[in-house]
Amino acid sequence: MISIICPVYNEQHSIRQFIICIKDLMLLNKVDYELLFIDDGSEDKTLDIIEAEKAHTPNIRAVSFSRNFGKEAALTAGLKFAKGEAVIPIDVDMQDPPELIIDLINEWKRGAQIVLAKRVDRSSDTLLKRCTAKAFYYMHNKLSAHKIPENVGDFRLMGRVVVDHINSLPETQRFMKGLFSWVGFKSSTIHYTRPCRENGESKFTFWKLWNLALEGITSFSTLPLKIWTYIGVCIALLSFCYGVFIITLALLSGIDVPGYSSLIVIILFLGGVQLIGIGILGEYIGRIYMEAKKRPLFIIEREL
Ligand code: UDP
Ligand code: MG
Repeated sequence: MISIICPVYNEQHSIRQFIICIKDLMLLNKVDYELLFIDDGSEDKTLDIIEAEKAHTPNIRAVSFSRNFGKEAALTAGLKFAKGEAVIPIDVDMQDPPELIIDLINEWKRGAQIVLAKRVDRSSDTLLKRCTAKAFYYMHNKLSAHKIPENVGDFRLMGRVVVDHINSLPETQRFMKGLFSWVGFKSSTIHYTRPCRENGESKFTFWKLWNLALEGITSFSTLPLKIWTYIGVCIALLSFCYGVFIITLALLSGIDVPGYSSLIVIILFLGGVQLIGIGILGEYIGRIYMEAKKRPLFIIEREL
């Protein structure tokens, strides 16, 4: 059996069409499946629609969060509750083309434990999103020892072994794309063009994406913490050289009236550098603090 897991947050305009599409597709290809929705605290009719559809489709299951916990938490719940031999996370907005599920399954049957669906064309995204995504993948893969494949979203297939390993990871700060690749295993890739969202609008604002990017980098790299040692050493060396230069100048040509501008520039520059350093420490300490609380990742209010 295949588990199709879908995090949903206020998707009342997309969900019915999605369910019909999956049902037809699975029937046509004779695939045994479960369709597991994780309602991430929707405030609209999403859960009611799921409930109504479940009444005549036994393959549908759903868990509903007590509030919006975010897509990463919803995916975590999906992987925990999925019972299938293979699990496929997919968005309900038709941006992950459901037909590809069959290709993913075929590739899995050929032996790959992980099948990635890679976007070859991101022209449905804005220029800003494409540029920032490129910058993120570049930064992340430079800083982290565990590379994440570029332009691969959460849409992929994972075999039971992989899912069990991901489920066993205890951390509460969950950057799923990172965890997916951290567990390893052989993967194969299929390519697709990502269409535009059919109904509703993206739930990810620029600020949410920025925080997700920070989460990704801080979860998988400590280089931003360590780099301050080297920056400090460089600045100290430069200061020493400058000191020698000033002293020599004073010895050779007498005491000079110290320059106000050079002084203020150095003070402001070093102040800025120190604040950046403290800010980066803060990012990590904040995460250690959240991790230490050991709060559950989500709270389930209802199970259908
Ligand atoms: N989603 C969610 N919780 C959130 C935000 C989004 O479960 O807090 C779901 C959403 O319903 C959709 C999927 O995650 O099924 C992807 O969201 P969206 O299409 O808005 O993201 P984009 O495609 O723009 O990256
Ligand atoms: Mg989308």
